[in-house]
Amino acid sequence: MAVAGAPRRQAKFAPISGKRGRAVAHTAVLHQIARLQSLPLVDAFGRSIDYLRISITDRCNLRCVYCMPADDPAPSSWAPLLSYRQLVTVVRAAATLGFTHFRITGGEPLSRPGVADFVREIAGIPGVEDISLSTNGVALGQLVPPASGGATGEDSGTGVTLAAKLAQAGLRRVNISLDSLRPDRFRAITRLGRLEDVWQGIEAALAAGLHPVKLNMVVLRGLNDDEVADMARLTVTRPLDVRFIELMPFGPNYKEEPRRFVSGAEVKRRLREAGLDLAPELDAPGAPAAAGAGPARYYRIPGARGRIGFITAMSEHFCGGCNRLRLSAAGKLYPCLGDIGAVDLRPALERGDDVAAIADLFRQAVAAKPERHHLQEYQQRDFSWREMFRVGG
Ligand code: SAM
Ligand code: SF4
Repeated sequence: MAVAGAPRRQAKFAPISGKRGRAVAHTAVLHQIARLQSLPLVDAFGRSIDYLRISITDRCNLRCVYCMPADDPAPSSWAPLLSYRQLVTVVRAAATLGFTHFRITGGEPLSRPGVADFVREIAGIPGVEDISLSTNGVALGQLVPPASGGATGEDSGTGVTLAAKLAQAGLRRVNISLDSLRPDRFRAITRLGRLEDVWQGIEAALAAGLHPVKLNMVVLRGLNDDEVADMARLTVTRPLDVRFIELMPFGPNYKEEPRRFVSGAEVKRRLREAGLDLAPELDAPGAPAAAGAGPARYYRIPGARGRIGFITAMSEHFCGGCNRLRLSAAGKLYPCLGDIGAVDLRPALERGDDVAAIADLFRQAVAAKPERHHLQEYQQRDFSWREMFRVGG
């Protein structure tokens, strides 16, 4: 579909300046007050910001059709990754500012060696209360050597599952992408994945005691939308949350969005048509969910063990309750998924482990958070520059 009046492609990264720069200066005063009172950072719209999503890599072992191009991106486009040491400095800085929740994501975070050690290290930082992970699940069930000092979990004699090792290191919960329950379709959507690997990963996550285990399905018309009821029924017998995510118009395939997009309201209607009763749980926009504040609105099939969530970034944005920043694999701190402005942490990190300097850059990023995204205007504005696997989904 042609994109009417789409502006010329924007640069992939823009420093924050101009009107937003003045907002930075204005809210710096508020931050000084917050710092003196040891309060969480508050942005210009009154939102407390205490959640950091950290992309530890932009590489991935899958090539989901809505996220990555079919062919490998040019090697020169991969981010020079921040070292774990630099990432630990970032977490320390964020923790001094009242950030309590840290999600590790990517790309595929488990494709980078050393994640369990990283989790263990940041779990010991004062102020870090909650560590979660977003993964495609492929590696969660793989056996790995236990951590030195002995491991709990399913010790098979040769090792423990990666899920158990992560749980032992301090990971509390996990989101796993699962776009189809049919092996052939799963393969077609991920281009490279095997459904059985992901199921093994889901079982390993449950066995490791990670809670909640949330399954994320991006609903795609003509590709998997006829499976929404089957996905929802998983919550009846298994302690799994299933979340339906609206497709966002990102990356090289964003022009396909109108053809593939299915709204959360349509999914809800289709679940009800399939005879599934949905009772709302904490249905107010921005309300904290039982386990982790977040963008999903939750429901439950009466008597079901897990919940059903809807993430409606496109049809019904939830920016009023946004509490997060995103750190890209390249070291840029993004105030908003739908906005190009970012604060580059890399130069300061390359100068050393200066927690105070990084904390100041966090304040700039919080001050620059826009009130809301404008992704629904994708037919007038080009969002193809935003690639989830680079910025961290
Ligand atoms: N590789 C991990 C995974 O697949 O869960 C973590 C990174 S992935 C970028 C994080 C989340 O972003 C996944 O749930 C994925 O489905 C979602 N995602 C990627 N591209 C998207 C798009 N265009 N619209 C909506 N969700 C998207
Ligand atoms: Fe990889 Fe996750 Fe993107 Fe799929 S959604 S290509 S698994 S980063």
